[in-house]
Amino acid sequence: MATMTFDGIGKTFDDGTVAVANVSFTVNHGEFVVLVGPSGCGKSTLLRMAAGLETLNSGSILVDGTDVTHAEPQDRDIAMVFQNYALYPHMTVYENMAFGLQQRKMPKAEIDRLVQDAAEILDLTRYLHRKPGQLSGGQRQRVAMGRAIVRHPMAFLMDEPLSNLDAKLRVQMRSELKLLNQRLGVTTLYVTHDQVEAMTMGDRVAVLKPVSDAQASNLQQIDNPQRLYDQPANLFVAGFIGSPAMNFLRVDLVREIDALMVRIAGTDISFPAPKGRGLEAHAGGQAIVGIRPEMFLVSNLGKALFHEPIAIAEALGADTFVFFDIPSSPVNINDLSAEDGLPPQRGQTRLVARIPPTATPALNDRLALTVEFDRLHWFDPTTGTAISADRSAI
Ligand code: ATP
Repeated sequence: MATMTFDGIGKTFDDGTVAVANVSFTVNHGEFVVLVGPSGCGKSTLLRMAAGLETLNSGSILVDGTDVTHAEPQDRDIAMVFQNYALYPHMTVYENMAFGLQQRKMPKAEIDRLVQDAAEILDLTRYLHRKPGQLSGGQRQRVAMGRAIVRHPMAFLMDEPLSNLDAKLRVQMRSELKLLNQRLGVTTLYVTHDQVEAMTMGDRVAVLKPVSDAQASNLQQIDNPQRLYDQPANLFVAGFIGSPAMNFLRVDLVREIDALMVRIAGTDISFPAPKGRGLEAHAGGQAIVGIRPEMFLVSNLGKALFHEPIAIAEALGADTFVFFDIPSSPVNINDLSAEDGLPPQRGQTRLVARIPPTATPALNDRLALTVEFDRLHWFDPTTGTAISADRSAI
């Protein structure tokens, strides 16, 4: 077990592509940290930097306090598990797992003990004589894990190790990998673009975003999964975590005689601003409100905030997702200045609400919906950072 610290690391490729910029965080002893983000956000590059397969332009990497920034991969005592498993097809499972140890000239009996132990843990004992081509995808994945485990490394690095598996096996391997981590207690850094994998496996999840500027930072927030969901630090995290994604609307904060009112830009829909959420500081200006699909409530017409024709109703059995449009310009979370100067009426924003299946409307029926006002998320309309009376640091 070890800690792994990334201190302001950066990587710009020779062609000028900024892959990783200003990323700092620590993976604690035995912790399972997941790196998640859209394609091109630098996940694989960061992992390869940790493994020593990619050089750094800036910053440093420490393992248990020792600077390994310039250490060769084989000197880092870190085991990497790749997406394609990288097994030797002509070797048996046993030989695949033993190979790295033989290279290190470990005594035969010791190798045998380590391979048998790992096979036992991974339920591979009866397949030790088979070749990779004679195994299922999940079994191959376990062999790749076995090859990492026998080394008893200080840390594991895993790059989308489940992405070649079918959906059912992925779910099974997800919990197996997590259990294995708890059992072995090995510090693990795990890359995926799948937010469900990130949320279910990570002790903490680091959300990365693509950057084009070496002065920016890919790292948007690192937190435990529930906090990422409940307290996203900014629009990017709020929009990335959660499915269907959070709805965003631009609002005006209008001071009336006895209350601060929230009015959805371009509409006459308004409601009192929830207290204690830091909105007072934005009175007279704008904010962006974030509404998760489950924050909508089916209401009676008198209390309805929205009463629009339903454009799509997806009945999933346990829940129904209903989609409807309101006449307010969509928020472009990747470029908040994009709407500047445009009259809000110029656009339509499609919202999605999760409702009980018993309330499923017919298409084009109008559905009366309100929201749980106290649970709404609020963001600064120019920076995209969360507005909160007690905003916690990223
Ligand atoms: P994905 O989920 O698609 O695998 P990722 O988050 O792992 O993406 P990286 O593979 O780390 O992203 O790539 C980050 C950025 O660096 C991308 O814009 C990519 O095109 C670029 N990149 C990666 N390798 C190189 C390279 N050798 N030369 C130039 N640019 C590169």
